[in-house]
Amino acid sequence: MESQVTEKSFVQRIQQIQNEFESELNQIKSLKDLEGVRIAYAGRKGVVSSLFKQLGNIPPEERKAAGQSLNLLKQFVSQTIQSRENSLSCRNVKQKIDITLPGEPHYTGRLHPLTQVLREIKLCFQNMGFSIAQGPEVESEYYNFEALNIPKGHPARDMHDTIFVDDNLVLRTHTSPVQIRVMENQSPPVRIIAPGRCYRRDTPDASHSPFFHQVEGLCVDKNVNFADLKGVILTFARHMFGSDMKIRFRPSFFPFTEPSAEYDFSCLICRGRGCRVCKGTGWVEISGAGMVNPVVFGYVGYDPEEYTGYAFGMGIERIAMLLFEIPDIRLFFENDMRFLNQF
Ligand SMILES: [Zn+2]
Repeated sequence: MESQVTEKSFVQRIQQIQNEFESELNQIKSLKDLEGVRIAYAGRKGVVSSLFKQLGNIPPEERKAAGQSLNLLKQFVSQTIQSRENSLSCRNVKQKIDITLPGEPHYTGRLHPLTQVLREIKLCFQNMGFSIAQGPEVESEYYNFEALNIPKGHPARDMHDTIFVDDNLVLRTHTSPVQIRVMENQSPPVRIIAPGRCYRRDTPDASHSPFFHQVEGLCVDKNVNFADLKGVILTFARHMFGSDMKIRFRPSFFPFTEPSAEYDFSCLICRGRGCRVCKGTGWVEISGAGMVNPVVFGYVGYDPEEYTGYAFGMGIERIAMLLFEIPDIRLFFENDMRFLNQF
């Protein structure tokens, strides 16, 4: 049993503890330090708690006054700790958030430039009543060549640098076989574009890639003529590159069209005046087109006396390179974010 304690000495003790508490609190620098002080003073086995246990040793007539002083100490300790905790937390937040630091931008995904261009091409032709057709990338020689009037031994096969998968099976060298597949399954009128990937045994350089994307176009109906083809190509040119675009057709040869032509757009850079890109001609080559060869109609059972049609092709990379002024086709396939982020 502990000895008797007077109220006077008890209050002195309280005062002493309050002084110690305040001086300890003045030295702390972190929330962790503060927690140590809190446990020492306000914890279950802390100083304040042990003082409450000593109240019983004070003579009963003095106990009430001693208790009031102790309650005041208890209140002071808890309020002071609380307010110190608030100010420390506040300071920590200030340390964490330095508003002068540069921001960290969030990376946002975007569409590949070829996807963007393809979507625009599709939109343009859909507006003119064309629908989208697709075909396999692994194609039989029949669809890739024969039915397009390119029989075995035809010199045009050499131009295609074909990748063979198996006997009679190739990676399609153009999207033209989709024409045959569509016409086999559909009676005229036909008005389709067929976008897709093509493959050729090319060594990659600034303008060649062993795989690339084409859009094939085909329209077959009664009384379709070359002027319709020119109108569609002109509408496309102006949709993609602006209303002042001009087009021109030059005679050419493709086995599956007769007559055949290659078509050019007026140079996007100099708008026809002549520059380095167009080699001073004012024109840039786009691709080939022509009236569907009646021989091809023979393969799909269309009557060439009743129907005529035109077909055209274009490289999506070619259009994108002109549109965005991209100098090297390989950039599309290297997945370099510095390149892709520009679109
Ligand atoms: Zn030019």
